[in-house]
Amino acid sequence: MTLPHGAVETPVFMPVGTQATVKAIPQHLLEELDVRILLGNTYHLYLRPGYEAIRRMGGLHRFMSWERAILTDSGGFQVYSLSELRKVTEEGVSFRSHIDGSSHFFSPEHSMDVQIALGSDIAMAFDECTEYPADYARARASLEMTLRWAKRSQEHFERHKHERPWDSAQGSENRAQEMRNQTPNLFGIVQGGMFPDLRRESAERLVEMDFPGYAIGGLSVGEPREMTREMIATTLPLLPQDKPRYVMGVGYPDEIAQYARMGVDMMDCVLPTRAARHGLLFTSEGRLNIRNRQYAEDQGPPDPNCGCMVCRRYSRAYLRHLMVAQESLSAVLNTLHNLAFYVETMRKVRDELLALSF
Ligand SMILES: [Zn+2]
Repeated sequence: MTLPHGAVETPVFMPVGTQATVKAIPQHLLEELDVRILLGNTYHLYLRPGYEAIRRMGGLHRFMSWERAILTDSGGFQVYSLSELRKVTEEGVSFRSHIDGSSHFFSPEHSMDVQIALGSDIAMAFDECTEYPADYARARASLEMTLRWAKRSQEHFERHKHERPWDSAQGSENRAQEMRNQTPNLFGIVQGGMFPDLRRESAERLVEMDFPGYAIGGLSVGEPREMTREMIATTLPLLPQDKPRYVMGVGYPDEIAQYARMGVDMMDCVLPTRAARHGLLFTSEGRLNIRNRQYAEDQGPPDPNCGCMVCRRYSRAYLRHLMVAQESLSAVLNTLHNLAFYVETMRKVRDELLALSF
């Protein structure tokens, strides 16, 4: 993918940077891990520090000192999962902040304004993430509203995408000039619950609207893994092969590798970062709970087959000690390894796919 803030090789895993930070990891280390694109959460940044504040400061890239690409979600998912007293109408969603209880309203148009103000490279259409389980009638109604909202998102986005905050981009005059010619991209989102025919209909009607990329949403919401795979397998062939195809909110290392081999180009998940903070490491030998007493004097690296900056330098015994002693460095080192493992997993799949294409 060629984006305003650089090229991204696909398939790619995108670490989640909820509050303008990938928890515990400074940006220069993300660069060292070769992360090319991050995900930012619109809902969180809208509430704090506020999208107008971020716009005034030149956008999210400059605010967090990250010059590579950023994808923002629409805010919808967090409104549904975090906020209180939400009310969904045709116009949009009203809700109360989970931070201070203040009242807010998100519509497709407002979500576009916020994402454009943040300056994301890829904005997502405002959708309703259909809950699981949902019956057929409910999934259909939700899908219909998501399609109407996709249309409204697209119309508003096309009218306002030139208002992105990076015109005054820092750096050389050449770079500034280059950025002035760039506008963000808007992806549409397929919904349809766990019903193959609704997924098909959602995908076909969305493709008619002609987005530069497509996401498959409403997965990883509590359904069995086999069902996730089936919905992806059903939907992928209906989305254009020459445009990025993004599955939101997945998954374990073996899942992201499996989906990438099926043709998925982009994925994101809090799993590697969240699990790391709980002491769960993903390794070439499977999952490892670093808290476990058996590692108390284990001087081997977390993963003998990983060449990351943590595995080259620190032992399991040291990581276990940091975790048990509740030291901040524990989250940093565990997260660094997990992200390196995810990045490496995707790199291996890219190499495989490249070898197949010759
Ligand atoms: Zn490692």
